[in-house]
Amino acid sequence: MPSSTGPSYPPTLNDVLERNRLVQTIKDWTIANGLAVRPPPTVAGDDTEGILAMSAPVTLFPSPFPKTCFEEAQDIQAQYNELYARISQDEEFLSSLVQEVAGGDDFIANLWNVHLRVKEEGYVQSLALGLFRSDYMVHQDGDNLQIKQVEFNTIASSFGGLSAQTTLLHKYLSKTEYPLLKSGIPRSTLDLPANHSAEGLAAGLGAAFHAYGKSALGHPTCIVFLVQDGERNVFDQRHLEYALQSSDSEPIPVFRLPFSQILTHTTLAPSSRGRQLLYHLPHNPSLTFEVAVAYLRAGYGPSDYPDPSAWEARYQLERSAAITCPSVLTQLAGMKKVQQVLATPESVSSIPSALRRFVPDEPAYSALWKTFTNIYPLDTTPAGLEARRLATDSEECKKYVMKPQREGGGNNFYRTAIPQRLREIPEEHWGSYILMELITPPPLVNTILRNGRLEHGGVICELGIYGTCLWDQATGEVLRNEGAGYLLRTKGDKSEEGGVAAGYGCMDSCRLV
Ligand code: ADP
Ligand code: MG
Ligand code: MG
Repeated sequence: MPSSTGPSYPPTLNDVLERNRLVQTIKDWTIANGLAVRPPPTVAGDDTEGILAMSAPVTLFPSPFPKTCFEEAQDIQAQYNELYARISQDEEFLSSLVQEVAGGDDFIANLWNVHLRVKEEGYVQSLALGLFRSDYMVHQDGDNLQIKQVEFNTIASSFGGLSAQTTLLHKYLSKTEYPLLKSGIPRSTLDLPANHSAEGLAAGLGAAFHAYGKSALGHPTCIVFLVQDGERNVFDQRHLEYALQSSDSEPIPVFRLPFSQILTHTTLAPSSRGRQLLYHLPHNPSLTFEVAVAYLRAGYGPSDYPDPSAWEARYQLERSAAITCPSVLTQLAGMKKVQQVLATPESVSSIPSALRRFVPDEPAYSALWKTFTNIYPLDTTPAGLEARRLATDSEECKKYVMKPQREGGGNNFYRTAIPQRLREIPEEHWGSYILMELITPPPLVNTILRNGRLEHGGVICELGIYGTCLWDQATGEVLRNEGAGYLLRTKGDKSEEGGVAAGYGCMDSCRLV
């Protein structure tokens, strides 16, 4: 890190009065401003009325983040949006990668089958919407700091709602509390970038809603958020909903529907009329809305598909005229396998120069390529066999993380857990995983406030950049492509995973240095 962060930033608060004051301010601000989550059942106890909320875990101070890296990540987002829009349109490319992983991965195989069924009768909606998030860590190579991509999310990219609030919390503290500390942090020393993540994502949803147009059947149109039962991160989603209403002069009807209730509360108009997705208000069944945009904050992992009817529900969405965010193909574009193939150098690629084919423009190609770290297949190609040697070697494996084609955190295998895991699965299924070099960012210190308790120590930060993209699958035309703010998640440096919802990480914001 550049020395401008100073040895005393972020300060360690040894004085109990000072510490308590800051903590109390944060506890109140987070609840007052919806930087909050629903409590887990263990904390909620007998909250049968569902009225309780608790502060989301946050850092006491914004973590230092290199300005050049932050700007690079922001600048490249439009190119990433377009890259993943192009990948979503390349059915043949996705098909070949699905074939490589589906043998050991029923979930991916089932998703692909949904696409094949709809393809057979013909898609009735060619517009596609992506609310993406590209995640990075800073990699230090001597004096050189470079962002390296952890992963690219194409479904249920979360925390855009809470992230904007976290930036506001730290900005508020920089005005009111930090200057009063014994180690007094003058406001002028804190470069805290603006963060319009909630507005940016809402604007993407709004653009798709308007692009859908009016109902040919004479119904009012709406956006439906498809959510998980018992979702605790509900305020994150609500902030997008609220931003959607404030950014538009005409209100946009938004409904939350559990993914498990799609077949109960929606129907499809017949194909002869256009297969519109109709949402029948549960509390007033005489009112029917036509779904312009189906925004999935569920459906990204196997647990949302406990039985065949859940797959029928996904099929109903996919074959409907609603703009699905994401479509099955766009969801599959987010497979870790896709990331691995993009990151495979031209000299060893089995599918020659995938990145170059999608991004012929040389400056864009180089800018994207720079953000990749080494990722290997675990198949039986020469590169895959070499990766198998690394993954099963008790020393070499310590430099890697092994990932299945999953989202939502808690699915990866780290370091010495890799050979252990490989011993548990049949060798013919190893190709369903990818092997990725671990990125080791420069060490930082911060204090996390989680469940009312402070955790002080070494931390690791992960930057996410949001982007929204609306395109036409049929013509390839990109109708809208925008950046949409950022997320900084911070975790203790002893923790492998960084997911906030999964309980490993916390919300943070950037102090640019
Ligand atoms: P998911 O889609 O489940 O979020 P990720 O690929 O983001 O999967 O991995 C989860 C977490 O594991 C990340 O947030 C990060 O903390 C850690 N992680 C993943 N890949 C790497 C890597 N190459 N180097 C260091 N940490 C990583
Ligand atoms: Mg992730
Ligand atoms: Mg992910």
